[in-house]
Amino acid sequence: MTYHKELTRIIEEIVAPAASGTDSEGAFPSDAVDALGAAGVLGLTVPAPYGGGGLGPGAATDVVRNLATACSSTAMVVTMHYAATAALTATGREDVLREIGAGRHLTTLAFSESGSRSHFWQPVSTATADGEEVVLDARKSWVTSARHADSYVWSSRPLAADGPMSLWTVPAGKDGLSLPGRFDGLGLRGNESLPVHADGVRVARTDLLGEDGAGLDIALTAVLPWFLLLSASCGVGLAQAVTAATAEHLTGTRLEHLDQSLAQQLPSRAKLARMRIQTDRTGALVADAVAAVDGGRADAQLLVLEAKAAADETAAEVADLAMSACGGAAFRKELPIERRFRDSRAARVMAPTTDALHDFVGRALCGLPLLDAPA
Ligand SMILES: Cc1cc2nc3c(=O)[nH]c(=O)nc-3n(C[C@H](O)[C@H](O)[C@H](O)COP(=O)(O)OP(=O)(O)OC[C@H]3O[C@@H](n4cnc5c(N)ncnc54)[C@H](O)[C@@H]3O)c2cc1C
Repeated sequence: MTYHKELTRIIEEIVAPAASGTDSEGAFPSDAVDALGAAGVLGLTVPAPYGGGGLGPGAATDVVRNLATACSSTAMVVTMHYAATAALTATGREDVLREIGAGRHLTTLAFSESGSRSHFWQPVSTATADGEEVVLDARKSWVTSARHADSYVWSSRPLAADGPMSLWTVPAGKDGLSLPGRFDGLGLRGNESLPVHADGVRVARTDLLGEDGAGLDIALTAVLPWFLLLSASCGVGLAQAVTAATAEHLTGTRLEHLDQSLAQQLPSRAKLARMRIQTDRTGALVADAVAAVDGGRADAQLLVLEAKAAADETAAEVADLAMSACGGAAFRKELPIERRFRDSRAARVMAPTTDALHDFVGRALCGLPLLDAPA
């Protein structure tokens, strides 16, 4: 499937022109999502027999990196959609996959909870059997695209099994779901990451994804690699965009009294160089992690963990350097850099957070399990 031409058109005609308003108004990028659905981009990773593009993490990371060069909020909405789609694919949820493949369905992850916070691997919300139905009760703390998604890939304690987690597909709009408040965050202001509460929400037993109690395995093996690579690619795209904007500002802005451009000031050039080196270094790590996953290499798990940890910091540091290199012009929003600086703060607190990833990478290097057995 070729998607580049349509993706480029959508970014140029819809995503980039809307990016500033998406941020300032905290508006969900509905036009972009609709266009991405119609162009087959939302269905890109759905297996071909279900009407999708049948492509893997390489294509998906390319899509979100390109989106992130224009609008991090849109890139995050698509990141969560592809990560949730990976759970549906791993568990063969054909009906939802066909809708996604047809470009009519946006999905997302509802893992984080008020109770266990960033420790998504230990949900405290419940699923209770009631005949052929199951009753879900939860305080989900952050769900990207919350009001606009058609379904949620949802974690809970198991029905009866021993494992720490079960996964469900929950249609949006079910009785008992409520979405309090509106998203008003520092950055990614259009990604609509709201709490979602479930009070006695009834789903069918057949909405279970995989086996009861197998949710953590599915989350770690099927969802996490996609999420980590996609989130890392958002960071690389953001870093590429602020590096390009900084180069443009330095070369296009003059110090009239010296008859020089800002680029002729060594400290500014040196900052730009550091930005580019960090961006390319992280981009290369992410590309190698994608190749490791595609090739089934033994170091794939370690590299995907490293990739998000590195990209979280690269995005934040490169955006910080850009604010400094571009000075007051960046501070006063004359340049599209201050928005990216705020956007760049999100990834470090998105689970697995950078802190958790440093723990996971250290554990992997020491031959320890990523997670301690649940309490
Ligand atoms: C823009 C955005 C979009 C999001 N979208 C989604 C979504 O679609 N779906 C979803 O499920 N979640 C989503 N999240 C939630 C995210 O994944 C985290 O769960 C959430 O940001 C954690 O915030 P908290 O205040 O609960 O963190 P806390 O768990 O309270 O952590 C606070 C700090 O302590 C550190 N910390 C906590 N435990 C440890 C530990 N064991 N070791 C080391 N450090 C630790 C953390 O790294 C963090 O810096 C989103 C978050 C953001 C910011």
